[in-house]
Amino acid sequence: MSAELTKYKGVWVFIEQMEGKGAPVSWELLGEGRKLADKLDTYLAGILLGDNVDNLAQEAFAYGADKVFLVASPVLKHYRTQPYAEAIVNLSKKHMPEVILMGATTMGRDLSGTVATKLGTGLTADCTQLDVEEESRYLLQSRPAFGGNIMATIICRHRRPQMATVRPRIMDMPQYEEGRQGELIREDLSLAEEDVAVKVVDYIKEKGKAVYLDKAEIIVAGGRGLGSKENFRLIEQLAEVLGGTVGASRAAVEAGWISADYQVGQTGTTVRPKVYFAIGISGAIQHLVGMQTSDVIVAVNKDPDASIFKVATFGIQGDMFQVLPAMIEQFKKQLVQ
Ligand SMILES: Cc1cc2nc3c(=O)[nH]c(=O)nc-3n(C[C@H](O)[C@H](O)[C@H](O)COP(=O)(O)OP(=O)(O)OC[C@H]3O[C@@H](n4cnc5c(N)ncnc54)[C@H](O)[C@@H]3O)c2cc1C
Repeated sequence: MSAELTKYKGVWVFIEQMEGKGAPVSWELLGEGRKLADKLDTYLAGILLGDNVDNLAQEAFAYGADKVFLVASPVLKHYRTQPYAEAIVNLSKKHMPEVILMGATTMGRDLSGTVATKLGTGLTADCTQLDVEEESRYLLQSRPAFGGNIMATIICRHRRPQMATVRPRIMDMPQYEEGRQGELIREDLSLAEEDVAVKVVDYIKEKGKAVYLDKAEIIVAGGRGLGSKENFRLIEQLAEVLGGTVGASRAAVEAGWISADYQVGQTGTTVRPKVYFAIGISGAIQHLVGMQTSDVIVAVNKDPDASIFKVATFGIQGDMFQVLPAMIEQFKKQLVQ
């Protein structure tokens, strides 16, 4: 490693917040960042931007941060790319972190690309696994590549910081350690409101039924094996009986049986429920990367060699049109008692 690169120290996590509430993915990344920082024998820091968000610094310490870099300004009240990127770029130039992690959320995806471009460094989006090679200090950023057919581990050899985004629910939530203390470092924002081209005129909350697949505790997901939109009702019935949420494979979405909001997987939502039912889903890698960390996986498939059985906790080999009605009936009985 060049002498220049050895000047970079610390693992930083962007603490995403909206209206003063931290995004869970930021805490998940602090948990992961803690492991990386320990391996690199360096510190873990949160980057906190906003207006009146000091309370979140304490939360970041409780989730494992040693330091929090806080830039507080009314200009940062609502997310806008330019001032947020400016704040992180300036912090980064001054304090030279070795690693920056962000959630692969709408905000994180927008911000990370801008920051990486301005810092002239690399960025690996949507990582599903992170580690470090202790000797070289490379961040090992693994993610599905080539349409999900292989897992690639990507490194950033010559530029710093090493930047990666990770989707919500991929990493474990760390322990919350009440009262844990850290160092709060306040920095100023070099921008005034007049310098920001984009103005926030109003916030309009989305109306209608929002699908929170990533927060669901029970998901009943159906795939192409269902055969028709009418048959997909069986999936809805089982979800209803269990008080769960419906999910789907991309094949079911593409067949028009359900909207894309319900798609689980690489190009859908990453989920981590307590129980995931995979019904008539073969278990293509692009589906597995979105659900394989569920606590319990129950798979129903007529093909004994289906890949879904490799990740299933309980596998039921059989015709779903026999298995599903029986399950619905049994669960109804059990749950009514
Ligand atoms: C870039 C890229 C991104 C992708 N992203 C995603 C993604 O986010 N999510 C996703 O899901 N896919 C994604 N895919 C598609 C993925 O590769 C698969 O094509 C898809 O997951 C297959 O869906 P499926 O399992 O429902 O269908 P199939 O693979 O066709 O499987 C149907 C299964 O149903 C079983 N079956 C049939 N009849 C019955 C029955 N009566 N009883 C029991 N079992 C039965 C069959 O044995 C079979 O295993 C992506 C692909 C690419 C290239």
